[in-house]
Amino acid sequence: MSKVLIIGAGGVGQVVTHKCAQVPEVFSEITLASRTKEKCDRIAAQLSRPITTARVDADDVPELVALIKREKPDLVLNVALPYQDLHIMDACLETGVNYLDTANYEPLDEAKFEYKWQWAYEDRFKEKGLMALLGSGFDPGVTNVYCAHAMKHHFDEMRVLDIIDCNAGDHGQPFATNFNPEINIREVSARGRYWERGEWVETDPLSFSMTYDFPEGIGKKKCFLMYHEELESLVRNIKGLKRARFWMTFGESYLTHLRVLENVGMTRIDPVRFQGMDIVPIQFLKALLPDPGSLGPLTKGKTCIGNLMKGVKDGKEKTLYVYNVCDHEEAFREVGSQAISYTTGVPAMIGAMMMLTGKWKGEGVFNMEQLDPDPFMAALNVHGLPWKEVLL
Ligand code: NDP
Repeated sequence: MSKVLIIGAGGVGQVVTHKCAQVPEVFSEITLASRTKEKCDRIAAQLSRPITTARVDADDVPELVALIKREKPDLVLNVALPYQDLHIMDACLETGVNYLDTANYEPLDEAKFEYKWQWAYEDRFKEKGLMALLGSGFDPGVTNVYCAHAMKHHFDEMRVLDIIDCNAGDHGQPFATNFNPEINIREVSARGRYWERGEWVETDPLSFSMTYDFPEGIGKKKCFLMYHEELESLVRNIKGLKRARFWMTFGESYLTHLRVLENVGMTRIDPVRFQGMDIVPIQFLKALLPDPGSLGPLTKGKTCIGNLMKGVKDGKEKTLYVYNVCDHEEAFREVGSQAISYTTGVPAMIGAMMMLTGKWKGEGVFNMEQLDPDPFMAALNVHGLPWKEVLL
């Protein structure tokens, strides 16, 4: 029996709230807070049990502290935007409450995915006897747990890791992003980076691709090499990794639109003076694009996210593929959101459940691969993201 405070009532917040509400034996009380309280109320109205809703500006630490003191949660589950991570961590430290998020901190004025800002909280969380769990979504999140699972049950040493994220869904729109457009475009247009023999190798954005044959009828798709935040913690925590890469599929229409938007400056994140005021082009673009939440009823098809891992067990080489396939329409029927929000919200709920039930315990700041994968992997099968593994 415990109380969770969820911050952020966007696409992922909606899924997390539904999934927490489905497990009353763990989440006996739920508060959902966001910048726009009406969004929390709209989600609350979809549920079959009552929750509390509140308005909060998560960039305002005193406001957050007041909310946490009033609600007295056992855990703060942050599914607002990466810009809020450090403020929410500060408020958790001040009020003595455990913390969880799904994406690493990013400064607003620089598209830079690094754990250094959050890892710097290690000593402060330890001193207070608190736990912060970072990146409990799908990627990062489940992909980190797949690595821990492979290390526990299949390998003595993992040598090559390819995380391959395929969205084979179609929403019928010429150009739209499946989650927050600003975060998505900042991520996709950043330079690529992968780990090779002890160092990072940089590539131009989306300049390196391969074709992968996905299971369960999805078939062959072109995947592009990108930098993704879980690589940073995985190369630190999984000893012996010689190569680690992250790949994502994109359709031709998405890539063509993105190229044009970049070429005309619409993806810039610095302010531009326009008719006497400063506007940030990517924020203006976000206002024009379809709200990712509106894509739920339109999206058909599946996602497939998995880890292709090569390693050694008892002196023999082994290749293992662990993956999940999630259906957009089934996700929408269950929680009113498409599979991108679903595959992030379910692991966020499971991470919170691990912490609140004491299956995952610790003091300090943790990435997912540092904890026992078994209870988390078992919970994925129960709560909507079943996994399969194939020895190749
Ligand atoms: P949305 O933009 O749909 O939702 C974000 C929510 O946060 C909005 O409701 C917004 O409120 C709220 N918010 C923003 N700023 C503040 C603030 N200062 N104070 C309070 N609330 C605020 O994003 P998503 O739901 O798609 O994504 C949520 C998080 O999940 C992001 O950090 C994203 O990076 C992460 N993510 C992680 C993935 C993974 O696999 N690990 C995959 C996909 C997403 P309002 O609407 O009122 O502005």
